[in-house]
Amino acid sequence: MALFQLLSGSSHDKCNDERQQIATLILATTDPLKAPASTAPDSSPARKTHTEGELRIQIARPAMVKPFPSRTHIGNHMLHPETLMLNYGYDPQLSEGAVKAPVFLTSTFVFKTAEDGQDFFDFISGRREPPEGTGAGLVYSRFNHPNSEIVEDRLSIYERTDNCALFSSGMAAIATTILAFVRPGDFILHSQPLYGGTETLFAKTLAGLSIGAVGFSDGIDETAVTLAAEDAMRKGRVAMIFIETPANPTNGLVDIAMVRRIAEMIGQAQGHTPILACDNTLLGPVFQLPIEHGADLSLYSLTKYVGGHSDLIAGAALGSKALMKDVKALRGAIGTQLDPHSCWMISRSLETLSIRMEKADRNALLVANYLRDHAKVAKVHYLAHHEEASPAGRLFAKQCMGAGSTFSFDIVGGQAAAFKFLNALQIFKLAVSLGGTESLASLPASMTHSGVPAGIRKKIGVLDSTIRLSIGIEHPADLIADIANALSQA
Ligand code: PLP
Repeated sequence: MALFQLLSGSSHDKCNDERQQIATLILATTDPLKAPASTAPDSSPARKTHTEGELRIQIARPAMVKPFPSRTHIGNHMLHPETLMLNYGYDPQLSEGAVKAPVFLTSTFVFKTAEDGQDFFDFISGRREPPEGTGAGLVYSRFNHPNSEIVEDRLSIYERTDNCALFSSGMAAIATTILAFVRPGDFILHSQPLYGGTETLFAKTLAGLSIGAVGFSDGIDETAVTLAAEDAMRKGRVAMIFIETPANPTNGLVDIAMVRRIAEMIGQAQGHTPILACDNTLLGPVFQLPIEHGADLSLYSLTKYVGGHSDLIAGAALGSKALMKDVKALRGAIGTQLDPHSCWMISRSLETLSIRMEKADRNALLVANYLRDHAKVAKVHYLAHHEEASPAGRLFAKQCMGAGSTFSFDIVGGQAAAFKFLNALQIFKLAVSLGGTESLASLPASMTHSGVPAGIRKKIGVLDSTIRLSIGIEHPADLIADIANALSQA
């Protein structure tokens, strides 16, 4: 629930009403234009416990400011995410008029009454629903806090879904979400490649909990995915389908609507429809909205484009209120929530998310085109290079609103040439991660995906010569000059 909703919920309304009454009283008693102080009723409860001056400092200002509710429309005109990222879910009136939300550096929150404390615990633990139009109340920062609620509400708006939970990393979001729905003996059907950390989570941690995984490497071929689904069903209950599209680092696409059909087919066959979760880190939410194409949950490493400045680690899960209830319950139980300061940084990042991603997207097109024509480049794995009429080209047009700015290319000359290229770069930084304002280059087979067995790496197209680029917002001519120079030395 939004900070606005939360703080304007039933208990807060009550509190505001009281403030309003007291402030009216003070204005009446101290504002010379309204009435002389001597006319204040002596029986006022406020006067019994406070001096006028104290009350004026504490409450007069909030009550004098008109409430500033979160708008999503002006008349019939629906506001766009770019606008809502600056306003939605925060009421300055509730924070001394501060235009930007403060960082709420507090571990716990004061209940106005013991009854509120009881209600808030019931709401936050999911035992009872808060009354319509009100929030669950603030309890303890492992469960919720204002800075996470602001970001969760804004990200939900961007993703066009009900609910969001923030996490202390992308891996915390992925692991918590999986553990909320998958039990020992279950199987996860998943696309390949996945981010190396997710592959390792499946192969080591989940396997150790007797949770199996069956992968498919062509996410566009319905027959291949059906065969993998049948294989997984033979082994156990398929509790989840986990996809990453486009895949890191190959940009391989998975047809979300097709995988939804397969989820329903599995549901018919085994009597339990698997949750379809999509890692949307590479394109979302500006260029891809998986839930609109049939996914149940959209997952993020917010460390990447959403955070966008390579200065924080965070994650998110988004989806329906019903599913997110389970995810949030586990987040609260194991404590994978994101801290207020990082949340505040993300709320700042959200304001520039679309302009950053769009600029990086334009830069990436120019860099990818340059690489495609270069003699030392064997192949560029870039979404906008697919033939329009090809299956991948058609899926790209249907599912994505842009190609994004993370892609890879295979350099001629294998690992030796790749090392020379990477060591010669001057503007691109040699670092893993992606989605920051600065351009980065890395070698997945030796770095992010080095934990993936060599045979699987080869099968999924992560070669020793595959260089991943994350294109930033620098001047494109400078990026191309850097690449041209590094290629000349490779
Ligand atoms: N998903 C993808 C696609 C990623 O690229 C990453 C990290 O690189 C993660 C998940 C994990 O995110 P984090 O590093 O924030 O835990």
